[in-house]
Amino acid sequence: MPDNRAPTARCGRLWIDLSALARNYAAIAARVAPATAAAVVKADAYGLGSGPVASALWDAGCRRFFVAHLDEALAIRDELPPQAELIVLNGLPPGVEPLCARHEIVPVLNSLGQAERWAETARALDRRLPAVLQLDSGMSRLGLAPEDDVRLAHDDRFRQAVDLRLVMSHLASSGTPGSEANAMQIAAFDRLAAAFPGIPRSLANSGGAFLAAPYHKDVVRAGIALYGGSPSGDPADALEPVVRLDARVVQVRTVPEGTGVGYDLTHRCTRPTRIATIGVGYADGLPRTLGNRGAAWFDGRRLPILGRVSMDSITLDVSDLPAGQPAEGDWVEIIGPHQPVDVLARDAGTISYEILTSLGHRYDRHYLPFAGVNSGRPA
Ligand SMILES: *Cc1c(COP(=O)(O)O)cnc(C)c1O
Repeated sequence: MPDNRAPTARCGRLWIDLSALARNYAAIAARVAPATAAAVVKADAYGLGSGPVASALWDAGCRRFFVAHLDEALAIRDELPPQAELIVLNGLPPGVEPLCARHEIVPVLNSLGQAERWAETARALDRRLPAVLQLDSGMSRLGLAPEDDVRLAHDDRFRQAVDLRLVMSHLASSGTPGSEANAMQIAAFDRLAAAFPGIPRSLANSGGAFLAAPYHKDVVRAGIALYGGSPSGDPADALEPVVRLDARVVQVRTVPEGTGVGYDLTHRCTRPTRIATIGVGYADGLPRTLGNRGAAWFDGRRLPILGRVSMDSITLDVSDLPAGQPAEGDWVEIIGPHQPVDVLARDAGTISYEILTSLGHRYDRHYLPFAGVNSGRPA
């Protein structure tokens, strides 16, 4: 896949495999059927590019897309056929309701205020407007409190103005299958959603898709699993990898025993050490917490990070590789077959979500195409 001869002026190369993404979508859809799988493409599709990602998912059969903010929905509205349902998880700040309605985008109503303003907008436009209602089943982040839930359910003016497409809630601990919180939340959700008979339901994110069938309800909202990250953080629980990241070696030199490396000289060489400096750093989304902990890979060998992560560079110990390897201009693997995103995340003390959404804008991005089950385009 990577062509090592292709010149690039950039510090790193990011491959996004849209056919792996499509296979992950198909795997989740098959797992949760007869529930349908929707895609969460917020935060620029977890850093991978919401335009190409959403288009590939549409070709893979996905018809419903969740984003966090209205502008994220507007950014992909024209990338997708008009039948695509775009849903804004955080709902609408006051005043943007008409813009949302004009673009046929569906807000999540998280509070009585959001619900009231959306109903008013519908009345002003003299048409029913679609919405998703979020109920707080125990995470205390977004959604209606139980008393407000009952109030809205019986508010005829609201129900006439707003076409409820879905009632939803969000699991706090779906990445921990044995957590009691899951059982508590599904019981709370079932109780609260009973106020809305006949309206389809949604509770599960990626982690929830791997819980038992009762968690799947009618619609599963899959994010990280589509992108090859593991909902539990255990790399063994991930679907197919979607991302590969390589960085370029900018310099290689040998320093004597006792030499300090990087800012504050936090690593002291205990032997003569050959150091390869690669041209990516925390400005490219590689957390400073990888300093003296993480690694890159070259030719099947793990190259430990020595010293701190700088803004634009990282120093690697390449002493154990044969002389002359790697050479200046060679590429080392940061995320790929030897080092899944969840392993990098664990070394950094974080989660794959944060690694992916932090991927910087300095990489040369390559999308490996997905031919599409419906598109008829050649592979
Ligand atoms: C981000 C988000 C998701 C997707 O979560 P993953 O763990 O990435 O699958 C689903 N639902 C809501 C409400 C979210 O905020």
